[in-house]
Amino acid sequence: MLVVRDLVAGYGAAPVLHAVDLTVPAGTIAAVVGANGAGKTTLLRTLSGMLRPSAGRILLDGEDLGGTPVEQLVRRGMAHVPEGRGVIGELTVDENLRLGGLWRRDRADAGRALDEVYQLFEPLARRRRHHGHQLSGGERQMLALGRALIGRPRLLLLDEPSLGLAPRVVARTMALLRQLRDDTGLTVLLVEQNVRSALGIADQGVVMSLGRVVTTRPAAELRDDADLRHAYLGF
Ligand code: ATP
Repeated sequence: MLVVRDLVAGYGAAPVLHAVDLTVPAGTIAAVVGANGAGKTTLLRTLSGMLRPSAGRILLDGEDLGGTPVEQLVRRGMAHVPEGRGVIGELTVDENLRLGGLWRRDRADAGRALDEVYQLFEPLARRRRHHGHQLSGGERQMLALGRALIGRPRLLLLDEPSLGLAPRVVARTMALLRQLRDDTGLTVLLVEQNVRSALGIADQGVVMSLGRVVTTRPAAELRDDADLRHAYLGF
């Protein structure tokens, strides 16, 4: 379970996140939605250790992660797929995937995880030796996700996975996240502009505005209740 309390973070003197509170139960998907500039990306960057919070607490399964270096966060089960995905164009699919397991001491399990990723993403298996820059947007998204999964994370932080993808590919990505949640108990914090798709697979919807969480609701309620949608999502 991920618990965030009173988190304050930003880029300079002025904070972007003002006392963010959030609870994501283990084995569930939370979709973080809200207008541009609400602080969604900043929240993910702070959780993954890229930004240092100036106040507040981050607990993963009861363990306080405050001040933990990024590498340690990864070892403790956190994986972040940033906006833009971070695929390295000059490396092959196989090399990109292996990067995701370099830090692992259990080499045998890293190898098993690699095989599992190839089973899960069959197009990647076919393009093992292709370079990152030769892939389509959907394939790059698979690669970024696959690389994160090789670390067998407990918590996956995903920033705009649907960006630039065709609707059919978005649907496939969302279905895969649901499958990972159901089959492996993965906990997912998903930031999405594509609110409908995200709320379609999420257990809870977390609405952010101006650096704060303004409401947290069951995702289906936010998706289906027109009054709530108008009030919080503006459509
Ligand atoms: P978007 O969907 O547009 O990315 P968001 O909800 O993810 O929106 P953030 O990207 O977290 O929002 O941005 C929140 C605020 O932080 C904005 O006012 C933005 O201008 C500011 N900000 C974002 N990145 C930086 C940065 N690297 N340096 C300074 N300010 C930043």
